[in-house]
Amino acid sequence: MSTFAEFHRRSIEDRDAFWSEQARLVDWQTPPRVICDDSRPPFANWFVGGRTNLCHNAVDRHLKDRADQPALIFVSTETEQERVYTFRELHENVQRAAAALLALGVKKGDRVLVYMPMIAEACFTMLACARIGAIHSVVFGGFASVSLASRIEDAQPRLIVSADAGSRAGKVVPYKPLLDEAIRLSTHKPEAVLLVNRGLAAMETVPGRDHDWAERLAAAGGTVVPCEWLESTEISYTIYTSGTTGRPKGVQRDVGGYAVALAASMKHIFMGEPGETFFSTSDIGWVVGHSYIIYGPLIAGMATIMYEGLPIRPDAGIWWRLVEKYKVTGMFSAPTAVRVLKKQDPAWLSKYDLSSLKALFLAGEPLDEPTARWISEGLGVPIIDNYWQTESGWPILTVANGIEKMPSKFGSPGVPMCGYRVKLLHESTGEELTVPGEKGVVVIEGPTPPGFMQTIWRDDERFVKTYWQSIPGKMVYSTFDWGIRDADGYYYILGRTDDVINVAGHRLGTREIEESISSHPNVAEVAVVGVADNLKGQVAMAFVVAKDSSGLDDAAARLRLEGDIMKLVDTQLGAVARPSRVLVLNMLPKTRSGKLLRRAIQAVAEGRDPGDLTTIEDPTALQQIKDLLTA
Ligand code: AMP
Repeated sequence: MSTFAEFHRRSIEDRDAFWSEQARLVDWQTPPRVICDDSRPPFANWFVGGRTNLCHNAVDRHLKDRADQPALIFVSTETEQERVYTFRELHENVQRAAAALLALGVKKGDRVLVYMPMIAEACFTMLACARIGAIHSVVFGGFASVSLASRIEDAQPRLIVSADAGSRAGKVVPYKPLLDEAIRLSTHKPEAVLLVNRGLAAMETVPGRDHDWAERLAAAGGTVVPCEWLESTEISYTIYTSGTTGRPKGVQRDVGGYAVALAASMKHIFMGEPGETFFSTSDIGWVVGHSYIIYGPLIAGMATIMYEGLPIRPDAGIWWRLVEKYKVTGMFSAPTAVRVLKKQDPAWLSKYDLSSLKALFLAGEPLDEPTARWISEGLGVPIIDNYWQTESGWPILTVANGIEKMPSKFGSPGVPMCGYRVKLLHESTGEELTVPGEKGVVVIEGPTPPGFMQTIWRDDERFVKTYWQSIPGKMVYSTFDWGIRDADGYYYILGRTDDVINVAGHRLGTREIEESISSHPNVAEVAVVGVADNLKGQVAMAFVVAKDSSGLDDAAARLRLEGDIMKLVDTQLGAVARPSRVLVLNMLPKTRSGKLLRRAIQAVAEGRDPGDLTTIEDPTALQQIKDLLTA
């Protein structure tokens, strides 16, 4: 048996011994008593009885050996800032932030909602929460008021930490008005709001509620705030993700399992060594940002780069300049970013000294072969695809070159990682598919490994129903992805089984966008589907039937309605969710029983054959889509 196969076998068959070894990669104040308590499936409790702290493992424990080495490297090409914080400086800043949080009344178990751009203060805030046992809930800075409000409503934070503004492509995006509007829309009101003033946009402050970051941190001075030792199974954070209903799901994670999963993955998958530098180009608003900008690299004793800006500003060499300057050894990005770079001069890839780089890891969406080949040839380093979800917190499928050098295959992220029992099941019979090449639903058998979501925040029932009861007769976790497996055990991911689409690596529920569009006074019916796109993988396209179509014969009036709808989604959900096109139709393509023909719409929008249309009520509906798209 190969080394990795044996490693994986032990993680399953000799589970407790395997994971108790991995648990030694982190510090425990009290070692765990029970490695995995899976007595109440599908819930898996890891390292029960153990007490630890994510902030201690990410920061404090490195002070002994590397206090004066870089920990956080903050680079903004938006505001022309670049600053390196050593572990000692990170420790000081995190303590000060923790003291400020405590002074504002935040206690262990309280939620702190973080709505911030990619600035060092966001990292301090997350680590400060972990330090005192507060639960952070980071909401992507590009989200608009309605999305933000639903997350405030669900998380019920005591405190919100935010900033005056973010910046994208040199354009200031004021956050404060969006935040104020979100708080107004939410029935839950935070007691306090802590605001970093970057001097980018004027802020109206609410007396008694709003506080200034700089003042509060200065007041905290050199206060010592010790790490709160938490039970391994206590909650470290929640992060919201989209599903098939409009209501976002708060993915809830533990403390100890997450720390161990990250430490193990940094070593075995990402091959990170203490003292090296890791550069993940994601955002703290996404799970990759939590795992591989903030916690993972720091737990591994590495410096981490936090980058605010685009990959092509001031030029398409910016990322590689940072790799050279900070001797980055591991880099993590998404296929969509590589496709953006691919439109630029390839000379940028050879302008800088990239000899420190061991590999480029890509995740979040399918990695197409031309993109993989282009970047792999340009950089001359292995490109390692990895497949996972917000729910898993770390890779489910990839190759673990830290254990054994395994070949990568184009189009496949790889094989199941330690602790993951991945299977392919028949969608309706639930039968396991074992013949190579058969297409089925990718599922995970419980108990799920350390670091995996514990439950949906405050909704165990929804967790069980949504994820564990979708396959008839089997209690298995559904990823809601289609997949096939080849004869070597490598998996290929073929897209979602549900109505979730993936735009530039970001997950969007089509239902959420439909709900937003439905709130337009002149929208009677709407269908949103994901349509293949060369750059972003997928984009959302909206098909709308107007309530009152009088006047819509006029092309200008149609355009106005389309524009209004785009603007509506923009203000309610944010630019990521904005449909690439809105088409006003006379009717939506439906079956005679009134079921929307989503797949047929998608096929036509992608210029494919819509397939069997025997059940369609009126074929002219699809024809109209064709006509509008070719017009
Ligand atoms: P999110 O939770 O937003 O990261 O989205 C997770 C989803 O993105 C997965 O369920 C897949 O549909 C897709 N995905 C993530 N990584 C990959 C990958 N390496 N290859 C193919 N699809 C991926």
